[in-house]
Amino acid sequence: MPHYYPCSMSNSRRDPSPASKASDTSQGGDHTQCGALPLTGSCHCGRVRFTVTSAEPWPYQRCYCSICRKTGGGGGYLINLGGEAASLQVQGQEFVKVYRALLDPGKPESRSRHERHFCGECGSHLWAFNPDWPQLVHPVASAIDTPLPKPPARVHMMVGSKPSWVTVTPGSQDDVYDEYPVASLAEWHAAHGFQAKASSD
Ligand SMILES: [Zn+2]
Ligand SMILES: [Zn+2]
Repeated sequence: MPHYYPCSMSNSRRDPSPASKASDTSQGGDHTQCGALPLTGSCHCGRVRFTVTSAEPWPYQRCYCSICRKTGGGGGYLINLGGEAASLQVQGQEFVKVYRALLDPGKPESRSRHERHFCGECGSHLWAFNPDWPQLVHPVASAIDTPLPKPPARVHMMVGSKPSWVTVTPGSQDDVYDEYPVASLAEWHAAHGFQAKASSD
């Protein structure tokens, strides 16, 4: 039985209390400590191009959920990065289409609030956005043209939703979760000592 969870890197930020969100400054505009990277991305046909500042640019979190698989993860998983929503600049916005996944197939009222943004011409999945966490945007790693830093390990998540033909091959440092991982993108980067400036040297 497939799962239809809203894949959100916000798995991280499941505490729905406004106070918690308001006090979360880890995603704010001051990246002097975390060494955020400026990223550029584009769709395959080139009609949509974007730039975004990313404080969580390690492509480490592979999501095997059924939604990610269908919408962009043909090999079985899709990877989202962490970006600062206010920094997102888009060329070709008129070509961008938004898909909100049906969490319960066949029931329009079950649409996720999580928005997946695509190029309407070529179909490339570009980024995700959730209005519940308006300060965040999640560029899809496969749409990024900037060389991304290689992560020190990977997290394989929603593995309980993968089909039998998808093989998970975790490295010795990797973690595997049937559903959501414990740490947020920001927490995982911090725990693994992310320093963009050092990594990009
Ligand atoms: Zn997913
Ligand atoms: Zn395109």
